[in-house]
Amino acid sequence: MTAPGTPRIGVLALQGDVREHLAALTAAGAAAGPVRRPGELAEVDGLVIPGGESTTISKLAALFGMTEPLRERIAAGMPVYGSCAGLIMLADKILDPRSGQETFGGIDMIVRRNAFGRQNESFEAAVELAGVPGGPVEGVFIRAPWVESVGAPVEVLAEHRGHIVAVRQGNALATSFHPELTGDHRVHGLFAEMVRAAG
Ligand code: GLN
Repeated sequence: MTAPGTPRIGVLALQGDVREHLAALTAAGAAAGPVRRPGELAEVDGLVIPGGESTTISKLAALFGMTEPLRERIAAGMPVYGSCAGLIMLADKILDPRSGQETFGGIDMIVRRNAFGRQNESFEAAVELAGVPGGPVEGVFIRAPWVESVGAPVEVLAEHRGHIVAVRQGNALATSFHPELTGDHRVHGLFAEMVRAAG
């Protein structure tokens, strides 16, 4: 049993750093659980798409029959937050998709995969994030994408080195970096607030 008013937030658990997101959501006051099947998706008020490998997440989503149900719920306004590979999955368009790579969409943006370089060029940087008070967040960038361009409905929340690294469109939030790896739960707190407000 969860207390009334506690948002139920799923983490898409096909591939990626699912556990870290579950822990961050729990710390942010949400009731968090993994989501792999359409029936589990139907039970949650909001969903996190974790960091990992977007080509793998795309393939497994198709295999698990999740692509269409996810597109439908996102299009219907379910709050959704994607970090890194999750940001890629929320893009309406990928600049350099691997063959067969499909996204769920939801944010009117074009993303460039691996834009900040390879694994060994991963880095951390302080990122000033609009909507998150209390100073910059520590951005962990691991083979991170950036947002090449956005459409009119998209609000840019953060930039790094002149590139867009955090955006919001309605109930969809996305970051190029991984707040779930830092122990700072303010981004998950912001998302939990979005889920509460939508409920
Ligand atoms: N480069 C990965 C991709 O294209 C994302 C990396 C990450 O999530 N840390 O999916």
